[in-house]
Amino acid sequence: MTLNIAILPGDGIGTEIVAEAMKVLQVLKQNFNFDIAWQYGLIGGVAYDADGCPYPAATQALVHGSDAVLLGAVGGPKWERLDKPLRPEAGLLAIRKDLDLFANYRPAKVHKQLLQASTLKPEVINGVDILVIRELVSGIYFGQPRGIEDLPDGQQRGFNTLEYTTSQIERIARKAFEAARVRDRRVCSIDKANVLEATEFWRSVVSDLHAREYTDVALSHMYVDNAAMQLIRAPKQFDVMLTTNLFGDILSDEASMLTGSIGMLPSASMGEKFAMYEPIHGSAPDISGQNKANPLATILSVAMMLRFSLAREDLALHVEAAVDQVLDDGLRTADLSHDADVAASCSAMGDAVCTALLGANA
Ligand code: NAD
Repeated sequence: MTLNIAILPGDGIGTEIVAEAMKVLQVLKQNFNFDIAWQYGLIGGVAYDADGCPYPAATQALVHGSDAVLLGAVGGPKWERLDKPLRPEAGLLAIRKDLDLFANYRPAKVHKQLLQASTLKPEVINGVDILVIRELVSGIYFGQPRGIEDLPDGQQRGFNTLEYTTSQIERIARKAFEAARVRDRRVCSIDKANVLEATEFWRSVVSDLHAREYTDVALSHMYVDNAAMQLIRAPKQFDVMLTTNLFGDILSDEASMLTGSIGMLPSASMGEKFAMYEPIHGSAPDISGQNKANPLATILSVAMMLRFSLAREDLALHVEAAVDQVLDDGLRTADLSHDADVAASCSAMGDAVCTALLGANA
């Protein structure tokens, strides 16, 4: 049976990194007995330019009919002044909400070849293997009321709402406990229960669920400010980190620096019915169009897609081994290199992964 995937490159470096991921899929299709078809769609700023909407109806129809979605990145200075609902980032929030992708998996695993690429000491990061599980379709990114309003005294007021219901917390906590069961059986739930009632509630719901159903997993709680510090001080203490939408957004970017670069971190966003795979980084306008971006986070997102949506663990392992191989060979894009003059381009990195893949099949 042919698997159908939707490809949404988006904006900025999104097109460059997705092009490299597509080379990988092409190699798998042609050489690894892999029956897959794909169709491209628009999202973000390019979708606004074409259709006046960052998540057009045609894209919505495409993703609803696909087995999985691969997304690059959205956003850029060109669209920053648009009304908020028309901005590229609104398209990203819309697709996540539309597909109810409530569980975002962000693995931060340190590749031993990149110990020197991180700004942290090798002994601190060697062996780090953290899974950040971020709630993705609720919390302060979606809570109502929100806005910027005029006040009678001539000032303005900006406001957002942080809210979580019991079921929203339970379903993401369940994912964290289940992920921990096939890892090191430890979940650290991150909150700000000492100040924010919504996260005091988060803590009690997570604790109750744990006591009822997951006592085989060790549960701890940590305030987000301490977690930010501990991630840098002693990251190996973490196995699964369970977080709200906002805290997970911030902490996973921080965790990416353990791995050497934000260009290394893939992610999977899962709902009950749909799944979407994307690197955790944005559209990187500062390097867009220069063939400099690191495509490995996107290629590793393809590996997650193969594993979780397409039932091809064998191919996921091949892709991950090919990435390891190019890192072993010393290839580094500029974000991972101390010498920008000898850094590999985005396309050279993609080509090298394909060569390694073909070598594995020789
Ligand atoms: P960013 O992640 O785009 O870039 C942050 C820094 O990391 C930049 O210096 C960039 O060059 C570097 N970087 C990111 N990805 C890289 C890669 N693959 N290889 C090498 N270097 C890489 O974050 P930002 O600058 O805060 O945001 C830029 C735009 O992206 C904004 O419009 C923002 O809203 C959007 N954004 C989108 C997503 C998404 O699509 N999921 C996520 C975050 C930000």
